[in-house]
Amino acid sequence: EAQTTTWTFLDGEWHEGNVAIAGPRTHAMWLGSSVFDGARWFEGVAPDLDRHCERVNASARALGLDAMKPAEEIVALTWEGLKKFDGKTAVYIRPMYWAEHGGYMSVPADPASTRFCLCLYEAPMISPSGFSIGVSRFRRPTYETMPTNAKAGCLYPNNGRAILDAKARGFDNALVLDMLGNVAETGTSNIFMVRDGQVFTPAPNGTFLSGITRARVMKLLSDAGMPVVEKSLSVQDFLDADEIFSTGNHSKVVPVTRIEDRALQPGPVAKKARDLYWEWAHSTPAA
Ligand code: PMP
Repeated sequence: EAQTTTWTFLDGEWHEGNVAIAGPRTHAMWLGSSVFDGARWFEGVAPDLDRHCERVNASARALGLDAMKPAEEIVALTWEGLKKFDGKTAVYIRPMYWAEHGGYMSVPADPASTRFCLCLYEAPMISPSGFSIGVSRFRRPTYETMPTNAKAGCLYPNNGRAILDAKARGFDNALVLDMLGNVAETGTSNIFMVRDGQVFTPAPNGTFLSGITRARVMKLLSDAGMPVVEKSLSVQDFLDADEIFSTGNHSKVVPVTRIEDRALQPGPVAKKARDLYWEWAHSTPAA
């Protein structure tokens, strides 16, 4: 990945570039004790930044780390750091906590060794006309098998292999199911479908990330008279859908234009959701 302009707040100071944060004995490098969140700054706005900063603290606590930076402080630090960017290119906002040392036999993280950084880097907003998804043979873990209540780095190799496998089959992304075989999410985003004018999205069951963009889009559609039904949805439901789209902080709302061998057109609900999102994002004062 090309290293675009990057600023990181670490140990009380801003550092330019891909500053070193780990050593060979860092617990997070060795045993995966890291959590993060991802928000965006584009066109002068950072939608739901407060929620992303609250969620990174919840993720830290879920992994037994010390969420030592109040969310409001992370928000304020973000706005301070964003002054270092010219705003021509969108910025990815990534707060992160990790453990430096382990506890009992090194395995659990030692919360007293928790570290924090806030990494900001230029990453253009892409608005693809659509993307394709293939049903993955890999599944989302349950809470019993992985800390699915945290946005933790250790969950992502599973998404990575699902995406690589989907790409090898000619798709852009993976449609990942839960352990019961119901649709959960893509490798990088939440998923919605429309059938006969009704909008649906998988009901959260502890296996997939119940996204902040997902919640925002549900609220915006509902306020516009299009309530979204949360329920268990099968692959067949998606194959029979009139429209499919995904939500996530990175690219917000994007239509799915192929699922397995079925082609779909970008539809009116995805367009409406995207328009509503932009309208709302620009009508909310910067936090
Ligand atoms: N699912 C996964 C696996 C993700 O990585 C993301 C992006 N953070 C999402 C869903 C979307 O979540 P959010 O809208 O909170 O960014």
